[in-house]
Amino acid sequence: MDQERIVRDVTTRLTRASSAEEASRVTVAALSAHTGAMTAVLLPVRDHLRCVAAAGAWQVFTAVQSGRGVCGRAFRSGRTQVVTDVRDDPDYIPIGPLDVTLDISAPLLDTDERPVGVLNVEWRTPTDVADAQAVVEAVAACLGDRITRLGGPPAEKRSEKLLRHAGALTAASTEWELMAAANDAARDISGLSAAVLVVADGHRVRLGMPTVLPNAFEARLRDVMTAQPESVLFECLALAHRHGSAYTLGETGHCVPEIYRPLIEAGVATLITVPVGPPDAGGVMLIADERNLDPDPATVNLMELLAAQAWACLDRMRTLAQLRELANSDPLTGLRHQGPFSERIRTAVPGRTALLAIDIDQFKVINDTYGHQEGDAVLVAVARALQNALRHVDELFRLGGDEFVAVLEVRHPGEAMVIAERLTSAARAIGRTVSIGVALVDADEPPERTLRRADAALYGVKRDGRDGARLAAGAAAGKTG
Ligand code: GH3
Ligand code: MG
Repeated sequence: MDQERIVRDVTTRLTRASSAEEASRVTVAALSAHTGAMTAVLLPVRDHLRCVAAAGAWQVFTAVQSGRGVCGRAFRSGRTQVVTDVRDDPDYIPIGPLDVTLDISAPLLDTDERPVGVLNVEWRTPTDVADAQAVVEAVAACLGDRITRLGGPPAEKRSEKLLRHAGALTAASTEWELMAAANDAARDISGLSAAVLVVADGHRVRLGMPTVLPNAFEARLRDVMTAQPESVLFECLALAHRHGSAYTLGETGHCVPEIYRPLIEAGVATLITVPVGPPDAGGVMLIADERNLDPDPATVNLMELLAAQAWACLDRMRTLAQLRELANSDPLTGLRHQGPFSERIRTAVPGRTALLAIDIDQFKVINDTYGHQEGDAVLVAVARALQNALRHVDELFRLGGDEFVAVLEVRHPGEAMVIAERLTSAARAIGRTVSIGVALVDADEPPERTLRRADAALYGVKRDGRDGARLAAGAAAGKTG
C-alpha cells in the first residue's frame, strides 16, 4: 500500500468537497479504489452513528446505535480499534459472511481531539496490519480535519427530526404526555422558543404542558394564556380552523387581531398558529418566539405535518379510552362493573378503605308489577341518585342485578356510616329504599373478605326491615365465628 499516494489522492479530492457528507464520499471512493477494502464513514446524529458514505460491500448498516460495534468503540474512546479476528470480537457487526481478516476503525478528530466521526475499513484478503493502520489513520486525520473546517458533522435535518418526534408522539401513553411531546417537537423542529398546544375538551380548553421546565418566555406566554377567559382561547382555536395556518411576516406597524394582543403584550414577536384536528374536538398549536424570526412557509408546513401526526395519535388515544370505558361499563347505568371493581380494591388501604354493599329493596316487585323496562328505569334512577350523593372521589360500581358497591377512602368508620346514611336518604328522595352494609378493610384482610362482611351486614338490614345502613362486625369477629 502506497500510503503517500493514497493520502495525496484523498487530500486533493477533499479540497473540492463542500460538505461533510461530500468529504466522506470522496474519501471513501479514493480509499476503496486504492485498497479494495470495504470502507465506510460514520458521522454522529444525536445518539447514534450514521453511515454517510460506503463502498465495497453488498449492503451497509445505515445506523449504529450509540456505543455499539467496533466503530462505536473507536468513537467513544477516540482511539483507533484494530481487530484481527472479528469472530472473537463481540462488538463486531458482520455485514456479510465472516470472511473479514482485518477491521480497522479510526476516529475522525477535530482540532481539540474530540471525535466527530469514524472511518471504518475492513479487508477480506491478508494485509499487513501496521501498514493498513498507518494508511487508515493518515486518511482519517485528513478527513477529520476537513470535516472540522466544514463546520463539523451535519446537523439532523428538520424532516428527520419530525420523524423522530412522530415516534415519541406514538409512544405517549396519556393525553398529557402526548401534548407535552407535541410541544417539545414543535419547539425543536421550528427553532422557536415556545410552543403551546391548546385542545378543546368538551366545553373547556386545556393547555398541553412541556416535559421540561419551560424557558422564561414560554413560562410568561403560558401565564398569559392561562389568565385568558376560555372564550378567548376558543376564539383563537376557531380562528385557526376558519382560516388555516398562519405566520407572522416580521414586519412591524400593522394592526394586530384583538385576540393576539395579550400575546404581543407578553413579548411575542413571532407567532405560528396551526389548527389541530377537527374544529369541534381538536385544537390549535401556537408556536412563538420573542425574537422577530420571520418564519418561512416550509416551517409552517412541517408544523402542519406535526399537528396532523399529533391529532392522529390523540384521536386514537381517545377512541381507545372510549372503547376501554365501554368494555368496563355496564351499558344500562354506565357504571363500571366487576373488572374495574376488582382492580380498584387491589389498592385498598387497611383502616381507610370502606366498602359499602348496596341493594335495592323489593326491586323484584317493580319488575313483576310494571315490567322489566320500568325496572330498568328504576335501576338507572337509583344509580344516578347514589352517584350524586357520593363525594367526587368516591367510586360506585354495579356488580350485578340491583347490587351496587361504593368504594370510599375515609378516616374512620363513622365517616363511612355518614355517607351510607346519605345514600339511603338519596334513594328515599326518589321514592325508593336501599339497604347498605358497611365494612372497612382490616389489616391483613383480603378486600374480597371485606365485601363478604359488608354483605352480611346488608342482609342484617334486610332481615330487620330494610331501608337502612349497618356497620359490619370487625374482621377478627368474622374469623372467630
Ligand atoms: P330485597 O329487598 O330482598 O333485595 O328484594 P328484591 O326484590 O330486590 O330481591 P333481589 O335483590 O333478589 O332482586 C333482584 C331482582 O333484580 C331479580 C332480577 O330479576 C332483577 N334484575 C336483575 N338484573 C336486572 C336488570 O338489569 N333489569 C331489571 N329490570 N331487573 C333486573
Ligand atoms: Mg334487592
